[in-house]
Amino acid sequence: MTAKQNAGAAKSPAKKIKDQVFIFDTTLRDGEQAPGFSMTIDEKLTIAQQLARLNVDIIEAGFPRSSVGDFESVKRIAREVTGPVIAGLARSIDADIDACAEALAPAKRKRIHTFIGTSPQHLSMMQKSPAQALKMAVAAVVRAKKAVADVEFSTMDASRTDRAFLYDIVAGVIDAGATTVNIPDTVGYAIPGEFARLIAEIRANVPNIDRAVISVHCHNDLGLAVANSLSAVEAGARQVECAVNGIGERAGNAALEEVVMAIRTRKDYLKVDTGINTKEIYKTSRLLVAVTGVPIQPNKAVVGENAFAHESGIHQDGVLKERSTFEIMSPASIGLKKNKLVMGKHSGRHAFRKKIEELGFDLTEAALEEAFTTFKALADKKKEIFDEDLEAIVNEELGGALEPRWDLAVAQTMSGAGATPTATVTLMRDGAPHTDSATGDGPVDATFRAIERITGLSGRLVSYNIRSVTVGKDAMGEATVRVAVGEQVFAGKGVSTDVVEASAKAWLSAINKRGEGDAPRKAVAKKKKTSRAR
Ligand code: MN
Repeated sequence: MTAKQNAGAAKSPAKKIKDQVFIFDTTLRDGEQAPGFSMTIDEKLTIAQQLARLNVDIIEAGFPRSSVGDFESVKRIAREVTGPVIAGLARSIDADIDACAEALAPAKRKRIHTFIGTSPQHLSMMQKSPAQALKMAVAAVVRAKKAVADVEFSTMDASRTDRAFLYDIVAGVIDAGATTVNIPDTVGYAIPGEFARLIAEIRANVPNIDRAVISVHCHNDLGLAVANSLSAVEAGARQVECAVNGIGERAGNAALEEVVMAIRTRKDYLKVDTGINTKEIYKTSRLLVAVTGVPIQPNKAVVGENAFAHESGIHQDGVLKERSTFEIMSPASIGLKKNKLVMGKHSGRHAFRKKIEELGFDLTEAALEEAFTTFKALADKKKEIFDEDLEAIVNEELGGALEPRWDLAVAQTMSGAGATPTATVTLMRDGAPHTDSATGDGPVDATFRAIERITGLSGRLVSYNIRSVTVGKDAMGEATVRVAVGEQVFAGKGVSTDVVEASAKAWLSAINKRGEGDAPRKAVAKKKKTSRAR
């Protein structure tokens, strides 16, 4: 990259670090729009706050005109999250740009990200000629530019776009004021060497390219999203669009943690860096799993459970001494602490609070008290309590406690060969116990049925996962469920040394998000009819 280009690059997210790759996170837009990943406004805000701690350069908070919920969540993130630039997506049409500008208005630093399909496939779908698309793109940037200084333009499906037209439209939007031009591999079709050439040729053939940052947005349909992104960086791209845990449409987007750790680990080769606080990577990944209820594969690069497994498995001096033979990055660099004995039965409230703060969590007094009670109960059952156990307990409290809520008091199950699995459950609500029994296909199913009878809320189990938090026979099990109640799906998480109990807690944490949990959406829906009607 030339010095001239760097000057242009530094203009956008206001930092002036030589050869920094800006990290544009789209977990809350592209990620959230994938089936099974929808989040409530509160959940999006929780994720956005963590993305700010991770120090991403840009948070794409949503697509304001796509739904009232998206409009409200972009607005809330714009109002409450500081640090990163807050971006919203808009098609190249006036109403989209205006809604986006309105939602972003409260943000200190804001960006309108507008786009149009440029490949023959997309042009014919929109029934537009290249000339018409170019005109719409330029008009969209001009309009966006009246609301914000920082405008990004995406040529959707760039990797299948006619090259001469691509150069024209990129040059046109830069002339109109776009400060970032994004070259998306929307359908995950590109191959790394080919994609690098595309970026190099855009740099060689678009005369005003040094006035904008080149960005890429790669999908993982062929498992090449991260590889294509890194190839583009080698060819001069200085913004990568990515999502935590690689979530996104279809096979997902480039995984943020992989892009960032590849750049950090191979700085010697790539000669660039990011501004990411990598020590927040592991926590961000776990938080997204906790919020969405969608687990990641154990062998997932960087954040999978086995990614550093030789750490928690064989604790032999020899292995530890030769760490670099097997480890290209340290678990500590992503904020992953080794299984470390931290707390026991005799640890008090003060020590517990201090440890939770050390782990980086910020809990309300009520949530801290709940977590402490869970910790004490766990300490009675389990001799050694590790950081991971505490994180699991705290993550349970992060779901957003609604009052009044249902809490588990007792879950007793009876099952075995020849027996009909039966569960008797007692739940507390407003200090009063409620007990009922049910039979089911197994002890967990019977427990869920008993909970349904007590709460009167019937739900359909969409997914159910159980994993061991630490090693050993007395390890805690962490149950993650997604429960559909009517049209909506709620994720819940529960931990216990007893899997039935963990499952019951997970179910309750999911349905506790219902009821009052619906309120923000209803309020938003009402608001649409009044203030947003045009
Ligand atoms: Mn996408």
